Amino acid sequence: MPRLSVLAVATALALAACSRTTPPESTPPMADASTDPSVETANPFLDPSPLPFEAPPFDRVRDAHFAPGFDAGMRRQRAEVEAIATNPEPPSFENTIVALERTGDALTRVSKVFFHLSGAHTSDRIQAIEAEYAPKLAAHRDEILLDPRLFARVDALHAARDTLGLDPESKRLLERYHLMFVRAGARLDDAAKARLKALNAEQADLQTRFQANLLKATNDGAVVVDDRARLAGLDASAITAAADAARARGLDGKFLLALTNTTRQPVLASLEDRELRRQVWEASANRGLSGETDNRAIVARLAAIRAEIAGLLGYPTWAAYVLDDQMAKTPEAAGKLLADLVPAVVARARAEGADIQALIDREGGGFTVAPWDWEYYAEKVRQARYELDEAAIRPYFEFERVLKDGVFATMERLYGIRLVERTDLPVYHPEVRVFDVLDADGSPIGLFYADYFARPTKRGGAWMDAFVDQSHLLGKQPVVVNVMNIPKAPEGQPTLLSYDEVRTMFHEFGHALHGLLSDARYPLLAGTNVPRDFVEFPSQYEEDWSLEPSVLASYAKHHETGEPIPQALVDRIIAARGFNQGFDTLEYMAAALLDLDWHQIRPDAPPVEDVEAFERASLARHGVDLAAVPPRYRTTYFAHVWPGGYSAGYYAYLWAEILAADAYAHTMATGGLTRENGERYRRAILARGGTDDPMALYVAFRGREPTVDALLKRRGLR
Ligand SMILES: [Zn+2]
Repeated sequence: MPRLSVLAVATALALAACSRTTPPESTPPMADASTDPSVETANPFLDPSPLPFEAPPFDRVRDAHFAPGFDAGMRRQRAEVEAIATNPEPPSFENTIVALERTGDALTRVSKVFFHLSGAHTSDRIQAIEAEYAPKLAAHRDEILLDPRLFARVDALHAARDTLGLDPESKRLLERYHLMFVRAGARLDDAAKARLKALNAEQADLQTRFQANLLKATNDGAVVVDDRARLAGLDASAITAAADAARARGLDGKFLLALTNTTRQPVLASLEDRELRRQVWEASANRGLSGETDNRAIVARLAAIRAEIAGLLGYPTWAAYVLDDQMAKTPEAAGKLLADLVPAVVARARAEGADIQALIDREGGGFTVAPWDWEYYAEKVRQARYELDEAAIRPYFEFERVLKDGVFATMERLYGIRLVERTDLPVYHPEVRVFDVLDADGSPIGLFYADYFARPTKRGGAWMDAFVDQSHLLGKQPVVVNVMNIPKAPEGQPTLLSYDEVRTMFHEFGHALHGLLSDARYPLLAGTNVPRDFVEFPSQYEEDWSLEPSVLASYAKHHETGEPIPQALVDRIIAARGFNQGFDTLEYMAAALLDLDWHQIRPDAPPVEDVEAFERASLARHGVDLAAVPPRYRTTYFAHVWPGGYSAGYYAYLWAEILAADAYAHTMATGGLTRENGERYRRAILARGGTDDPMALYVAFRGREPTVDALLKRRGLR
């Protein structure tokens, strides 16, 4: 996923509030290679990079440049903003809004590099700087957005927006700025501003406590096993890992099954001992419900605080406040999308449950399928039905061929762009590669950095970042980077990928394209600076090309023999995509509905006394309370929505997937993989970034609003 920029005027905040599929994982420390005395010389962030496309001068960047870079960047932006606020001329679009877009150049440069490295190549030093500067950057943003002189100018322009003769993109920019100020609290009187500040501080404190409790509850919840025989079903490496984990806690000779973040736990797919499965599942599902790590009072208070903040800002609920800025626009629209899917998804989950029950009965189990049984028996059904053998597939997915003959070649066929590797630009790690991105006529578009391999200094997952956002106003061309965690093969051997890794390469390149093919005037509206329920649309759209027959034919070849992948294997990959989708989709939807309900509490409602009763009632009301399919996250360990910045937003993944599936089906129905189709999509969606309302962009491309039909097919639910 890409990180969502929110505002050039406060890049810092934008980068701090990046979008991720999971909350940031802790990253292991690395050796600090940068206490270099040469930092006394020029700080490379203070002036534009002299490199092509203003590429980051990684050869000159040292850790010691960050703090002074942030300080100087904030100081400069404060001065730039002060000049706008005190301009004696009456406010105009140019001297206020465009002027704001031009501020913060140095702060943007240091932030983009710093927050990228904090995810992709971190260190103790970088983490310490982040802890120190995150609150400073948030305060810096507030100082700008709560400046009454500045807001008076923006507000006056906004009131006159229809008489200023603005083109649509400029008008949208003005509206975005106004909304940003209003949502930060610029309209409030001093007493209300003080109350907002106190509520924000209390919220931040509770979020930190939630996170700390969850971390401890997750660690404490690890299940200790005395007898190796009880681990039957786990493979040798998992057993070794469990023994190592126990030893690390001073439990020599025992085995420790650590918990991961979702309700569902990976070991449940293979543990044969039913009683042990139950123990692991209950340890997971009861996190945050008792003892010193009890999160119940914290979430109840967080829900109440958010309701009060929404009320202060003039919204009926927190969800209404959050969604007002999204493509869905209202909690009702997001909720309706989920509700529309409930019947098909529940029916599929019930059918999957029946298959599993039949297997349990055949084996003479004599029990009803429980949540801790599902994965174990689903895996048996999967193996019997699809025989999807990873080892048979990988030889056809050699990394370099997937990248060049798969991803790059497909993008050339669709969009006319070519990627040509260059080795003259500095990088932050020797495994990072740089490519020129050229348009069909050979003209330069920007730069693409590729950082695909796992290493201890990188956090988990896959994502896209931009070092430079495209902007005609600032004369900048895009510089973007894709990050993944592919385990690299030993020296001299080819790196062979799983299909999931192949699909993720297409996905992340979809985000990269959104940044690269951006054709916006203003940085605030460029590239992936779009609502989070829209941002995963271009990425998921590109995913589906990975299985298009002519695309497969060009890249999926055996790394030794060059033989094309057998159709039988492709068929199994496609069939396996639909496997267990009833369970997967339902557990996700249950969590998304729970999230929306917690954030639709009204400011004047009495505080929630019984968190578990609230949760039960919510799931029952929506008809998603299947005993064997619990929500992906229960309330007390739902880190996305309490501390994670995804409050009232967990629905967004599925919302964006609906757009992607609907758009892809449309493309396939109108000629499939052609230059014409690529060009149409490029102009209508990729080039436009956030320059118009997302639904308007979509309808202009598709000719109508999206429906869920294609998504149901994509997930094999119909
Ligand atoms: Zn993504």
